[in-house]
Amino acid sequence: MRYISTRGQAPALNFEDVLLAGLATDGGLYVPENLPRFTMEEIASWAGLPYHELAFRVMRPFVTGSIPDADFKKILEETYSTGPDGVFAHNAVAPLRQLNGNEWVLELFHGPTLAFKDFALQLLGRLLDHVLAKRGERVVIMGATSGDTGSAAIEGCRRCDNVDIFILHPHERVSDVQRRQMTSILGENIHNIAIEGNFDDCQEMVKASFADQAFLKGTRLVAVNSINWARIMAQIVYYFHAALQLGGPARSVAFSVPTGNFGDIFAGYLARNMGLPISQLIVATNRNDILHRFMSGNRYDKDTLHHSLSPSMDIMVSSNFERLLFDLHGRNGLAVAELMNSFKATGKLSVEEDRWIEARRLFDSLAVDDEETCRTIAEVFKNTTEVLDPHTAIGVRAARECRRSLDTPMVILGTAHPVKFPEAVEKAGIGKLLELPKHLFDLHEREERSTVLPNDIKAVQGFVSSHGNRGKPL
Ligand SMILES: *Cc1c(COP(=O)(O)O)cnc(C)c1O
Repeated sequence: MRYISTRGQAPALNFEDVLLAGLATDGGLYVPENLPRFTMEEIASWAGLPYHELAFRVMRPFVTGSIPDADFKKILEETYSTGPDGVFAHNAVAPLRQLNGNEWVLELFHGPTLAFKDFALQLLGRLLDHVLAKRGERVVIMGATSGDTGSAAIEGCRRCDNVDIFILHPHERVSDVQRRQMTSILGENIHNIAIEGNFDDCQEMVKASFADQAFLKGTRLVAVNSINWARIMAQIVYYFHAALQLGGPARSVAFSVPTGNFGDIFAGYLARNMGLPISQLIVATNRNDILHRFMSGNRYDKDTLHHSLSPSMDIMVSSNFERLLFDLHGRNGLAVAELMNSFKATGKLSVEEDRWIEARRLFDSLAVDDEETCRTIAEVFKNTTEVLDPHTAIGVRAARECRRSLDTPMVILGTAHPVKFPEAVEKAGIGKLLELPKHLFDLHEREERSTVLPNDIKAVQGFVSSHGNRGKPL
């Protein structure tokens, strides 16, 4: 399988190189040159497969030529393992829970860090280690986090022999649970850096480090944010998994997806283009509603950042949206490059009417504010005794407002465990004490390790180059 850039000017790469690449050299994002397509018979024959076997069938075409079948199978079996020593704490890996007649939550929060990002980052860490061992290379990962991505990336890489990971978080500005989920994972290749600044400062320093890598002395720098193709790829699987349990592919299914960077929902769009009957995809945003403004009115205009009770969706622009634009423009990279350049200059973007109408055939959208989020958490708790996390609650609200057909099963992606976001749950007036799941019961007693650094790129890069080789200098 070959991968091409959404801006048409970078060399095509194979899977292995895309895994290590990050952004393409022309500033675009990598996408498969040809999307695999499965027949209905093929998809139907996968009903009842364990998660890791389904994952093998769905993802195999994306890695052929780079990862041998036997190795890939073994990696997937490990990644999506369950049981006492398994990675996922639920036997079904991604169980479906019924909320209402024909309305379901797909619980994607039974992984080690209690959010859906584990599905991709547990795989990414193992794939990286496999490819790097074969090449005899080591890499450095740098990422900035305001919460979920950092802990999932660290958990995913903690056992990687060939990776040193540096995660920057704003000092004293992430929640207690989220910080502990990062800093209590100890290992000589794990480096938590608390920056005396805010999240944007962290992100700027990571960006600047990608732009000028001299401080790495030749070691390759890898990105773990959702522009990494392997993350999208891993997320395609659970759309198949959910649909197969609800009568698919004979019956079509609708999904409502809490969305920030358009990564998770883009995976659903790909699942549909690979042959899975999906009749509707709902983009569910919080007040940071650039995607809703596009879907509802063809206006993708940059706004200021609003802090919300669903912080993992607090974004100003959605990095993966460019991948959808590429398809909407007949995969014309130059047209996308032009659009993105003008967006960079003006902060505004809209597409030709017929292209927007094409998008609207599949996508609907809703923006949900904090107040409505809490109301939804309270309403669902009252009717079902289920406690939703604020991101999932936004998905439920959007599903209920935007649903096209009551006969079609509606699946809301449950993106996080409510214990990660106690503020929203408390504001919803739910007195029920949320308990940490079994594997994290002693989180608050665990030893923490992190380094506080000033908001200064030289200090950060100096730290990376003096610790980037299993804690030793590069
Ligand atoms: C990251 C995250 C999201 C948003 O996912 P995108 O792929 O960026 O759209 C939603 N909910 C939770 C809990 C997250 O951690």
